[in-house]
Amino acid sequence: MERPRQKTTRDLKRSNRIRLLHTLYFDGPLTRRDLAPDTGLSTASISNATSELLAEGVLREAGKLESDGGRPQILLEVDPGHAYVVGVDVGETHVRVELLDLKLGEQASAQYALEPGRHDPATVIEHIVSGVRAVLDSSDRTPVLGVGVGMPGIVEYGPDAVVHAKTFGWDEVPLGRMLAERLAPLPVHVDNGAMTMGQAELWFGAGRGADNAVIALVGSGVGSCIVADGRLYRGSASSAGEWGHTTVEVAGRRCRCGCRGCLEAYVGAEGVLERYLAAGGAVELPEADEESALERLLDSDSETARAVVEETVEYLGAGLADLLNLFNPELIVVSGWAGLMLAHRRMDDIVASAGAYSLRQPFQTARIVPGRLGPDAVAKGAATLVIERFLGRADLRPRRGLGQADSRMISSGSKITEAGSSDGSSIRSSSRRTISAAMPSSGCRTVVIVGRLVHDGALSSKPTTATSPGTSRPWSTSAWTAPWAIRSLAAKTASISGWSASRPFMARSPLP
Ligand SMILES: [Zn+2]
Repeated sequence: MERPRQKTTRDLKRSNRIRLLHTLYFDGPLTRRDLAPDTGLSTASISNATSELLAEGVLREAGKLESDGGRPQILLEVDPGHAYVVGVDVGETHVRVELLDLKLGEQASAQYALEPGRHDPATVIEHIVSGVRAVLDSSDRTPVLGVGVGMPGIVEYGPDAVVHAKTFGWDEVPLGRMLAERLAPLPVHVDNGAMTMGQAELWFGAGRGADNAVIALVGSGVGSCIVADGRLYRGSASSAGEWGHTTVEVAGRRCRCGCRGCLEAYVGAEGVLERYLAAGGAVELPEADEESALERLLDSDSETARAVVEETVEYLGAGLADLLNLFNPELIVVSGWAGLMLAHRRMDDIVASAGAYSLRQPFQTARIVPGRLGPDAVAKGAATLVIERFLGRADLRPRRGLGQADSRMISSGSKITEAGSSDGSSIRSSSRRTISAAMPSSGCRTVVIVGRLVHDGALSSKPTTATSPGTSRPWSTSAWTAPWAIRSLAAKTASISGWSASRPFMARSPLP
């Protein structure tokens, strides 16, 4: 009877550790006092686990937080330099390899051009292996935990990571196994590039905190990453999210997948450039480099170029409208190098087109925004495949509470309720406690969200608030992710000079 008991204690210790690490990774820096409500652990467990993690160098101290009247509290965070990871973006035009710290800070990179028609597995694998060796040799950053790879096409989830990539001419290539043999002892994880980019935007970019979102990738090809109830939706055979191959025109342009009229043939960079040439566009575009060719086309004054760009904006909006109608996301992030080029020039028109082609309700309850992580988010996202294993759980995501600001309260009429108490004075307190426990039974009709702003990574001591519109029905937990909350807090933040990047934060479901 002794053995199962020991196992239980060890399991419990491990799960406490994972919970702390998870919370500090996504929401740190936090004080030990903050960790109690955020993790549900006892003070003693927190003290033990944080001492252990500090001694191992996984955590580090990150300054002090002044509290009202009390002693300053020491802030803890995951040390980004505790370990390193490699992220690889296999695109249509290049293979990019980055060595990153645990917070996705770039330490070294290598890039190799892929020539049209030269996408055979041997060439791609050679570039990946050379790139990994190059970034490891150019830096003394150790230990390196593993290699994550983002690939075009369908990637079967599993250790072999079998890839089906029609545009590369790949059929059932066990890329995961082939790379693991070359890169041993480093573990290798492979996923679809839109999925890895989506995960990067969810962890650290524009998608942070969203439970129902679509991250749309527009590059040479077109794909998407669907987030449903906080998890990546893969479908029954890992091919969900192939948005680029949804039909926008019956019997339309031939697509690289073999079908006709796919969205990719109209808004993917290759399709846009082909349409321009087919419309009689003057061939002043540089041939080899698709990225500068598209940029020139977007900025061109010629009538043909303008017409092609207008049409592209309209098709892209219509494609986004399909996503809105199908998934009713709270957020669509437009990303990928070509998507960002378009979004940075024509975001309002893209949104207007999405509105014109979608149902009113899903359009009005969603935000459509450009990606925040830039065009190399695929490599960074690939690195998260390794980091999620380091953190100890495969289905990690930031909890619903967003960012570092972290004081949540709920108001019911004039009575303020905070987790475990109904003391009206608590709204003036700057103590950071979670109210998630009080949420389901609170039955409140007005919600006040209180948070602190973040400036250069530091918390302000002044809380700011956003109040919900009144309602005849009690707010449910999911109402906390409502767009009004995001807009309202964002507007408040914008009006306070010198402070920026405040993240709205809402009640969350307790950790499993
Ligand atoms: Zn297609």
